[in-house]
Amino acid sequence: MSHSVTRALFDQVMVPNYAPAQFIPVRGEGSRVWDQDGREFVDFAGGIAVNSLGHCHPALVAALTEQAGKLWHVSNTLTNEPALKLAKYLTENTFAERVFFSNSGAEANEAAFKLVRKYASDHFGAEKHEIVSCKSSFHGRTLFTVSVGGQPKYTEGFAPVPGGIRHVEYNSIESLKAAISDKTCAVVVEPVQGEGGVLPASREFLEAARALCDAHNALLVFDEVQTGVGRSGSLYAYMEYSVTPDILTSAKSLGGGFPVGAMLTTEKVAKSFGVGTHGSTYGGNPLACAVAHKVLEIVNTPEVLAGVRAKSQRFVDGLNAINAKYGVFKEVRGLGLLLGGVLTDAYAGRAKDFMLAAERHQLMALVAGVNVVRFAPSLVIPDADIDEGLKRFEAAVAEVVGQTA
Ligand SMILES: *Cc1c(COP(=O)(O)O)cnc(C)c1O
Repeated sequence: MSHSVTRALFDQVMVPNYAPAQFIPVRGEGSRVWDQDGREFVDFAGGIAVNSLGHCHPALVAALTEQAGKLWHVSNTLTNEPALKLAKYLTENTFAERVFFSNSGAEANEAAFKLVRKYASDHFGAEKHEIVSCKSSFHGRTLFTVSVGGQPKYTEGFAPVPGGIRHVEYNSIESLKAAISDKTCAVVVEPVQGEGGVLPASREFLEAARALCDAHNALLVFDEVQTGVGRSGSLYAYMEYSVTPDILTSAKSLGGGFPVGAMLTTEKVAKSFGVGTHGSTYGGNPLACAVAHKVLEIVNTPEVLAGVRAKSQRFVDGLNAINAKYGVFKEVRGLGLLLGGVLTDAYAGRAKDFMLAAERHQLMALVAGVNVVRFAPSLVIPDADIDEGLKRFEAAVAEVVGQTA
């Protein structure tokens, strides 16, 4: 088949910062995707933990198209009904009392990191400006968020970068204790490090972070851009851990594929973002907020959340069964439907080979760094699609193992 738009065009017209797959998807339904040639894929990637209700969920299509016929955009010189309804829903269903909307995870974090500085400056003075974050963490790609992020490769070549940021070992209470001081304005943590290798925080670490923040008048920020909106089996992962932050950021699954982000916080902290201190032209866009509200209404139900836990177990059992035959993983870890297979030393550095083999077997998967094969499917993926996808993944593993032997 010949197409007027091909993958080769990417290399001619796009900035080369991505290396997308060779096939081009054109249609999706539930957890299945079809490419230009009509080849059908099972989707275990979920657009990187974004398509929380799969592709083209009828209720989301209806929410989007209904709003599209009413009002698309008004800017923040006006407010709008979908934004207020979404904010009300978020405040009624989380610790938060105030919400700021953005268009992405990075922007939600940018707002959070500016807010913690502003809050400390308002209440304690300019000296209290240090942000403590974790090594291997990921918080987005703006200059501030890559700087708070704990992966040096993402700041290389971009100096000078913002200062006043310290990085500690993830899950090391000792390391956190050593770094935190009265100069600390905030500690930033992902409850599960997503990009950093699908590594869950220990309960003790998050509890210690909460206690140390309280002792030093610092704010605790949870980046739940990847873990939020049902992915953990609770609406937000902080609920799984019973540790409540002062600020929480959400994006990815929140829009189910429509770009939207949110920063949630308390009334007291929110006060430091007075009129004119921060903003966004699109933040709170009616289309985005109408879709996100529908996503939350569907995801935040006992059936869907219990489904995430049951499906998680089905995935873990299936991956462990594959691993019992082929011995490629040291460990299968994660929380809910954010799962990672950590490669054994024999396959170290080869996560991408597994992802590419999966593609050849018509399965979309992800990597998290070079040693972890990551899965972040729809939260409502049918069990039959999990089983079919795992069958395809087994064929992919067999291929990589066969080529290696
Ligand atoms: C993806 C991600 C981000 C960045 O979100 P964008 O929408 O790509 O800007 C931030 N934090 C975490 C934990 C993420 O997984």
